[in-house]
Amino acid sequence: MADLPEDVETDDCLTSYKHIYCPELLRDQVAFITGGGTGIGFRIAEVLMRHGCDTVIASRNPEKLSEAARKLTSATGRQCLPLQMDVRQPDTISSVVDETLKQLGRVDILVNNAAGNFLCPATSLSFNAFRTILEIDTMGTFNTSKVLYDKWFKDHGGSIVNISATLGYRGQALQVHAGSAKAANDAMTRHLAVEWGPSGVRVNTVAPGPISGTEGFRRLSGPTVEHMEVFQNIPLQRAGNKTEMAHAVLFLASRAASFVTGATLVADGGAWLTSANDVQHLLGILSSHSAKL
Ligand code: NAP
Repeated sequence: MADLPEDVETDDCLTSYKHIYCPELLRDQVAFITGGGTGIGFRIAEVLMRHGCDTVIASRNPEKLSEAARKLTSATGRQCLPLQMDVRQPDTISSVVDETLKQLGRVDILVNNAAGNFLCPATSLSFNAFRTILEIDTMGTFNTSKVLYDKWFKDHGGSIVNISATLGYRGQALQVHAGSAKAANDAMTRHLAVEWGPSGVRVNTVAPGPISGTEGFRRLSGPTVEHMEVFQNIPLQRAGNKTEMAHAVLFLASRAASFVTGATLVADGGAWLTSANDVQHLLGILSSHSAKL
């Protein structure tokens, strides 16, 4: 078994961390991370901060954000601003970016990580639910990217990393809403890479597979997932962890990827190539979750 990067299941900082890159890689830069208070976004914030960066973590729930910022600052010694914002509302994004620039003076990296998701067959999915996922995942990514571009990146350059998913590659069952939203985001990565490249802005994507210790993973997987044969179908025979996703983001965000733009880095252990796309199995998971409610 390879030497895996450390992780903890909860939204807490790592108890120990071995740097893969130089600890000064992002020295004195600022990263703006949507949905940075929980799950993968929290670990991205931590790993970027462990490489010398200050962060803004921005989402809807101020209590969750404040608690996360307290943990991140105490573990890394870097500054973390928790700012309330809904990615569906350009006005709130605009105020939060103004506040960021006022307090931290710059933004070098934007990570579009905020998203919503749940399992649902297309026939049961309401029009409203489909629209909401598109609004958060796709319009949220466009809204935040555009506000940051207009207010800062246009004149200073920067790096945008979008967090996508592999759901749309093979039409994953019960995921038409999230798969469609992320497919649009993958196209957006390429469009914005082309339009904003001349301003010194790189735009890339990380597409995670199943990642342990996340709400998404708990919700989208069966109750006994850790023991299920589901991982035998994945070439690397396991789920990924949040630190591994943070390392993929760190690579794309940093000067390690200085000539990379418009790219999608699939970080899924090879899962999308081989994993079952089984409607009956997923319907079983869905009904076992509903039975517990
Ligand atoms: P998570 O913990 O549920 O994180 C989602 C975050 O988005 C939350 O912090 C939430 O914060 C924020 N958010 C939701 N709606 C928002 C809105 N309207 N405005 C601003 N923020 C909003 O999920 P996760 O599992 O770590 O997923 C993180 C990313 O990885 C997502 O893009 C997801 O699609 C992708 N991904 C995850 C997996 C996985 O296995 N977990 C697999 C593939 C892809 P508030 O509630 O405070 O707003």
